[in-house]
Amino acid sequence: MKSLTPPLLLLLLLPLTSSFNPLPPPRLPLTLSVKQNAFERDLRFKGAVNFRPVEETGYFRDETLSCDPKVRASQLVEAAVSVAKKRDPDQSLFIQTVTEVATSLGPLFAETDEYFFAFKHMLEPEQLYQFRVPWVDDSGRTRVQRGFRVQFSSALGPYKGGLRYHPSVGVDTIKFLGFEQIFKNALTTLNLGGGKGGSDFDPKGKSEAEIMRFCQSFMTALEPYIGPNRDVPAGDIGVGGREIGYLFGQYKRLNQGRFEGVLTGKSADWGGSYVRPEATGWGLVFFSEEAMKDLKGEKLKNKRCALSGSGNVAQFAAQQLLKLGAVPVTFSDSSGTIYEPDGFTVEKLDLLMEVKAVRGARLTDYAAKSPTSSYHAGARPWSVVDELDLAFPCATQNELEEQDAINLIKAGCIGVFEGANMPTTPGAVEILEAGGCVFGPAKAANAGGVAVSGLEMAQNAQMTQWTGDDVEKKLNAIMKDIYHQCADCAETYHDRTQIKEGANIAAFLKVAAALREQGAV
Ligand code: NAP
Repeated sequence: MKSLTPPLLLLLLLPLTSSFNPLPPPRLPLTLSVKQNAFERDLRFKGAVNFRPVEETGYFRDETLSCDPKVRASQLVEAAVSVAKKRDPDQSLFIQTVTEVATSLGPLFAETDEYFFAFKHMLEPEQLYQFRVPWVDDSGRTRVQRGFRVQFSSALGPYKGGLRYHPSVGVDTIKFLGFEQIFKNALTTLNLGGGKGGSDFDPKGKSEAEIMRFCQSFMTALEPYIGPNRDVPAGDIGVGGREIGYLFGQYKRLNQGRFEGVLTGKSADWGGSYVRPEATGWGLVFFSEEAMKDLKGEKLKNKRCALSGSGNVAQFAAQQLLKLGAVPVTFSDSSGTIYEPDGFTVEKLDLLMEVKAVRGARLTDYAAKSPTSSYHAGARPWSVVDELDLAFPCATQNELEEQDAINLIKAGCIGVFEGANMPTTPGAVEILEAGGCVFGPAKAANAGGVAVSGLEMAQNAQMTQWTGDDVEKKLNAIMKDIYHQCADCAETYHDRTQIKEGANIAAFLKVAAALREQGAV
C-alpha cells in the first residue's frame, strides 16, 4: 500500500458502485446561492475542517484527505479525474475536458463530498449510441460510416447539442463535446440537457446527392432515439442549414409527416428561428463586449481582431465585430490563414462568405480575388499577426497551443474568446491568464448558438415565430446574463477575472441541484 500514490489510494476507498446518494440531505443545500455558499464555506474553513466520519459517508477516511482545504480540494480533483481515466483511458479529449472542469470545482469538492459525488455521477452519459450508416456514392458503391449520439444529461431538460460530420469524429470527440454541452446549456438559463452526435463522414468533395443520401441514412438510424421533448440535435462542423433540411425531411418521412421541433437550425421559412445561423458568432461578440467592458473598461471599437476558422461561427463573429466598429484581420481553414493587414471591410467579408458558400472552396480562392490580402499556407492566425488586441479561435479543438499563446501576448492581445469548442489547450490558457488576457471559455462564450436553439424550441412549441430583432435582443440579454453569472461566481470562489472557473462552477451548481432533486437516476 505504501507505494500507492494518494489519488490511487483514495480511489481504492471509493465504492465500486454509483455513490451519488440522494439521501440523506447534504449539510449544504445544493440550491444555495453562490454568496450564501461562500459564506458557509468561509465559516467551515476558519477552523479545523471536520470531515464526515467514515461510518457516516462510507466513502472517505480522515487519514486519506488533508485538513488543508486547498490540498483536500486538489486530492479530490485528482480522484475525480482518476475515475474518468480509469474507465476510459483512451479518451484523451474527454479526459482533458473532465480535468479542466474538475480543477475549477476543487473548492466545491472540498466544501462537501456531495459535490464530488454529483460530479462523479455526471461523468457517465445516460446513453451512448453508436450505429452503422450505410450510403451509396455517385458511382453506385455502398459505403459505411459510423454514427454516434451521446445523451449525456437530461437533468435540466431534453438532451440538446449539435451533430458533427468530420473524419475525426469518434466516441472520444462526441463525449468531450457532449460533456461540455451539459455545462454550456446550463448557463443559457433555458431548460436544456446536454448531448452531442455526428459521424466520421467527410462532407468535403461530396456531391449534393451524396450529402442528401448520407443525411437520410444517418437520420434513419438516429430517429428512434430523438424527439422534441427527448433529444433535439442541431448543426456543428460539417452540418449546416442544408444538412438540417435533409435530416428533418427524413425524420418527417419516417414519422408519417409529423412536423415537430425535433431539430434546430431549420430554415426560417419552415419552422426555424431568425438569427439561429448568426447566433453563435454574434453571441460570442456580445459576450466579449460585456467582458471587455467589465474587466478592462474597453470597447470593441477599433480593436484589431484575429479570427481562426472561416465557417459559420467565424463568419458571423466577424460580421458582428464589424457592426461594433472592430477590425477583423484574419480567417483560416485546415490549409492555412488569410490575412488582411488593414482589416476586412463589410465588402471583403461578403466576398469571403461568397467564396466559402461554394462547397469545397479554399481560402486561396479568396486570396486570388483580394490583392490586399496575403495567404499563409499551413499557418494559424496566431503566428501570422504581429499586432492585435483580441483573438477569437473559431475553428476546432486544441488549435491554440502554448507557443501560440506566447505569440498572442507578445502581439499585444488583451482578450481571447473561444468560438470553437475547447480550441485553447490548458497550457495556453495558463499563459494567457498569466499575461493578463481576459479569457472567455467556450462553454460560456459560444453558448449563443444553443441559446437561440432553445428559443427555436420555444417558438416551435408555441407554433409561432418571433422577429429577427426580438431574437437578437433576447440573444444579447442571454449572453450578458451568462457573462455575469460567470464573473459573479468567479468573484465568489476565485477572483472576478477567472471567467473559466466561474463558468464551470455556476453551471455545475445548477446541474448538481437538479440531479439531487431528481434522485438517483
Ligand atoms: P463549420 O462551419 O463547419 O466551419 C469549421 C471551420 O473550421 C472551417 O473553416 C474549417 O476549415 C475549420 N476547421 C475544421 N477542422 C479544422 C482543423 N482540424 N484545423 C483547422 N481548421 C479546421 O463549423 P462551425 O459551425 O463554424 O464550428 C466551428 C467550431 O465552433 C467548432 O468547434 C464547433 O463545435 C463550434 N461551435 C459551433 C456552433 C454552431 O452553432 N455552429 C455552436 C457552438 C460551437 P476546413 O473547411 O478546411 O475544414
